[in-house]
Parts: sequence; C-alpha cells; structure tokens
Amino acid sequence: MSYRVTLIPGDGIGPEVTAAARLVADATGVGIDWEVVEAGETAIRAHGTPLPAEVLDSVRKNRLALKGPITTPIGGGFRSVNVALRQELDLYASVRPARSIAGEGTRYPETDLIVVREATEGLYSGVEHWVDRDHSAGETVNVITRKACDRICKFGFEMARREHRHHVTGVHKANIMKTTGALFQTAYREMAAKYPDLTSDERLIDNMCMQLVKKPSEYDVIVTTNLFGDILSDLCAGLAGGLGIAPGALYGDTLAVFEPVHGSAPKYAGQDKADPVAEILCVELLLRHLGEREAASRVFRAVWETVAEKKVVTYDLALPGYTDRPVPPSSCSAMAKEIARKVPLVDLTKPLPRPHGGGAAGVDSALEN
Ligand code: NAD
Repeated sequence: MSYRVTLIPGDGIGPEVTAAARLVADATGVGIDWEVVEAGETAIRAHGTPLPAEVLDSVRKNRLALKGPITTPIGGGFRSVNVALRQELDLYASVRPARSIAGEGTRYPETDLIVVREATEGLYSGVEHWVDRDHSAGETVNVITRKACDRICKFGFEMARREHRHHVTGVHKANIMKTTGALFQTAYREMAAKYPDLTSDERLIDNMCMQLVKKPSEYDVIVTTNLFGDILSDLCAGLAGGLGIAPGALYGDTLAVFEPVHGSAPKYAGQDKADPVAEILCVELLLRHLGEREAASRVFRAVWETVAEKKVVTYDLALPGYTDRPVPPSSCSAMAKEIARKVPLVDLTKPLPRPHGGGAAGVDSALEN
C-alpha cells in the first residue's frame, strides 16, 4: 500500500533535514508518494505569500504532512506561517516527545517525557496591536476557550492511556491568570477525574520549569496551553539531548502534520551541518500514526544505534560535554545515509541497549506499544 504525504521542506536547514528524513523514510520500504509544496521564504519569492492556498489544499487532501521548520521574522513582516497553519487546519494538539537517545548529549539520560500543547489559541495566537501611535505600549490578547481546554485535556489523557503512560501533569498559571488560567485548570481537573486509571497532578508553570530541571524522571505526560507548551517543549528537548533530536506532531480531528521542535536555525542553513535526527524521528511518528509499526521501530532503532555508536553523528552529538567520547562531527547528509543504511539491518528482536537506564515509562516500551 502506498501513502500520499504532503512534504513542506521549509526554510533555513529545513530542506536539508527534510531530504534526510525522506531518505530514511524511503529506506523503510513503506511506499510514500511525496507531494512537495513550498511555504515560508521560498513561497514568498515564488507566490508573494508565505502560505499559498495550495499548501493548505494539499494537507487537507492528503490529511498527512511532513514539515520542515519555517522562519518567522521578528518584528514586522509576515505573520507566522506556523501559527497560521495550525489555526487554518485546526491542528489543535501539538505532541512533543522528549526522549533521551542512548543518553547522548544530556545530563539526564533517563528523560522520557511527552509535552502535549494546545496549539490554536492563547497568547501564542499573534492577536496583538500597538496601544498608542508612537508604539510605546503594546497589547497581546490571550483568549482561552473552555472548548479548546476540554479537547486538549481529553487528547492528553487519551494519548497517555494509548501510549501506556501512567502520569499526567497539567501546567498553568491559574493563581495569577484568574480567568484564562482558571478555565484551563477547571477543564483539566474535570478531565482528570474521568481517567482514574492514570495518576495526575498540577503545577504552576514557573515551578514546573524548576521541577523539570531538578528531576525530569518524575514527570511523564505534560498537558498545557500554547505558549507554556512552546517554552516547556524546548526545555524538555534540552533535557533529552537538544533540539537536534526532538520530533513533534500536530494533530487535528482528521489531519496530522509532523514537524521537529526546532526552528530553521538560519546560521547553519546550506552547510549540511544540522542534526537530521529530529526530522527523521518525525518520520517515525508519521509511520506509527499510519500503523506501520515495524517500519517505525526500524527508524527509531537505526537512529538509536547510530547515535549510540557515535561514529557518524553531527556536531551537536559529537561535542565533548556530558559524555567522554568526543568524535569528529559528520555532516547532516552523512548521518542520514548511515541511519538509512541501518534501517533494513536492525534486529527488532533484540532489546534496546540501555546504558543509562530507561525513562519514566521506559524508552522502548513507550515507543513500541
Ligand atoms: P532554532 O530552533 O532554529 O535554533 C536554535 C539553536 O538550536 C540553533 O542555533 C542551533 O544551535 C540549535 N539547533 C536547532 N536545530 C538544530 C538541528 N537540527 N541540529 C543542530 N542544532 C540545532 O531557533 P531560533 O534560532 O530561535 O529560530 C530560528 C527561526 O526558526 C525563527 O524564525 C523562528 O521563528 C523559527 N522557528 C520555526 C519553528 C517551526 O517551523 N515549527 C519552530 C521554532 C522556531
């Protein structure tokens, strides 16, 4: 069976990491027919807009997309393509697993968390204006609806159950944000009561940041609002080994778009230097979503073995730091080729090596259920 998937290469390092991901996807033997469409800076040059209608049409038609990062200029210019895409397609659940890969690049080799972030409303929506003519004061609007809180909390608990996770933490700032924070808190509490098989608790966002840095292994699934989730997912990516290895997925009721947590890292664009793992693990999530479990596990294990071997890894995993084995860095394309080479060779019957122990729910159990 063959699947048709929209491919959005994106900006900066996007074309390089999506080419790497495509190589690995092709190595699985799962037939994927890629429909390539441009969004972001390339699309502005070609179509005069960063989000041409054909991008939205393609994702709506195929219901699946693999996306590279897209640059959002700071200050003036176009509105964020990422925000627009999520709102236009109602991709309301952003799921960002933060898993240590073979304990490389991290002080916290046991990290195995999933951040579930509401992705369509709140402070991140870009609804804002200048309050006065000389731009000395600005206002950003934070609209939070009960409907969106209910569906993201439900999504988080359902996903925790499906992924055989045990514990869910709701994160908010209801002590200060008496309306928007309280709406989320109430929705979260009511939803938690419907899932007695899962343990749950709550944290204020500031305390959550501190707790995660102190003892990430005490957390499992985190459910939160848009901006808090944006910040927490970068923090959790850092705990797991860095932005170079952190994949993500955006889900609506019928559509799914897979994109890494990282951005377009413009300073590395065109240098064949960026870590392709985050985008390659987006392919793993895509395959898992399609029910292609064996292919998904092959991708994950090929990544794991390549990182653990540490012979062909990009600069971020080659650096001295938390491990004592600095090696010469390889290019993005060389690492992708090495992972693709391993995909058909990995032995799925062997347990994953765990040099540093498993995470909250165990690295492989979370992935292979
Ligand atoms: P970034 O994630 O692009 O980069 C931050 C730093 O992380 C980089 O300088 C680099 O050191 C490291 N890094 C990121 N990806 C890496 C990779 N694959 N391999 C190795 N190192 C990597 O964040 P930024 O610099 O804040 O943002 C750059 C642009 O990306 C901005 O325009 C921002 O709006 C956009 N962005 C887009 C998305 C998205 O498309 N979903 C997400 C985040 C940021």
